[in-house]
Amino acid sequence: MAAKRDYYEVLGVDKDADSAEIKKAFWKLAKKYHPDVNKDDPKASEKFQEANEAYEILSDAEKRQRYDQYGHSGVDTSGFEGGGAGFGVDLEDLFNSIFGGFGFGGFGSGFTQSRRPSGPTRGANLRYRMNLDFMEAAFGVERKIKIRKDDVCPTCEGKRTADGSEPSICPNCNGSGQEQVQQQTIFGHMLTSRTCQRCQGSGQIIENPCETCKGVGTTMKDKTLLVTVPAGINEGEMLTLRGEGEPGRNGGPYGDLYIQVYIRPHPVFTREGNMTFCEVPITYAEAALGSEIEVPTIDGAVSYKLKEGTQPNDVFTIRGKGIPYLNRHGRGDHRFRVVLEVPRNLDAEQKEMLSKFEESMTDTHYEKRKGFMEKIRNIFGSK
Ligand SMILES: [Zn+2]
Ligand SMILES: [Zn+2]
Repeated sequence: MAAKRDYYEVLGVDKDADSAEIKKAFWKLAKKYHPDVNKDDPKASEKFQEANEAYEILSDAEKRQRYDQYGHSGVDTSGFEGGGAGFGVDLEDLFNSIFGGFGFGGFGSGFTQSRRPSGPTRGANLRYRMNLDFMEAAFGVERKIKIRKDDVCPTCEGKRTADGSEPSICPNCNGSGQEQVQQQTIFGHMLTSRTCQRCQGSGQIIENPCETCKGVGTTMKDKTLLVTVPAGINEGEMLTLRGEGEPGRNGGPYGDLYIQVYIRPHPVFTREGNMTFCEVPITYAEAALGSEIEVPTIDGAVSYKLKEGTQPNDVFTIRGKGIPYLNRHGRGDHRFRVVLEVPRNLDAEQKEMLSKFEESMTDTHYEKRKGFMEKIRNIFGSK
């Protein structure tokens, strides 16, 4: 894994920054690098993801403490990244999730009104990083993955109350989830509506919360999923598991799970799209005389007939021995380059044989060399 920047450095805050400073720093970066406002700059989305990751860790007291103590390894949970921000989340949603949704003042009231606390909300999307071997990506594989996610509480089935009753309406906000306050925001001093402090914006009060989930309605759960990776998948491509994200609220649907594929390098083969490639060392005699050689392909070795006078670095194609096409029939080609290996450690007898052999050679055997010598003579005018 590539070296990661320090999360504090990413957000540009001090090690002892409080949560408000961290929020502000992230919001500034999020506005600057959000993919929606940087469509022409691919680097921006990377920066955005980096800031998002830093914020996810530093805004969570427990994760932050682990990070402070152990660094990146303390918070790297086997490739699992909490989804949400940046994944089809627009700036308003993001702002809402950071600051709990106080209004945008002059930016139009539709923003807060659309956040009805009682309305159904789709659950968060999750992302999972899957590392595959070269061959697994080529031919497909079934893989069990374990994800840790928020899921509906098994005790109260998401009702959040201990006895299964409906929660009562919050008297502070009358169920709207919002309260009006005069507030100092990063946009200046303004009258804003913010998340109701009493009910945390849910519009509901739970007097008798479920003991398992403490009234949240969800608990962290490990879930094992069987993922069918199709043959031919390539680096950076994404598999979508519909409905395997986090649960929605108020009857909203589950989010999705995105599995992003990374392919480990292979010691022999490289890949470009559906074409595979490798190098094959051959001897001087094999090249000169022509020879049947063994060429590795992803199906195993196949024999290939080199013709007489094969030259170093010649590239040959074996049709249909590359990577299968994703979700359709057929396969790409396999190409290989022959690399000439000049013999070493010759004994006296071998050297003599080779010298004799070389003496027997004329310009007709070495066209390239002949042309080259003629060029030199033309340039320098010697004999
Ligand atoms: Zn519960
Ligand atoms: Zn309330």
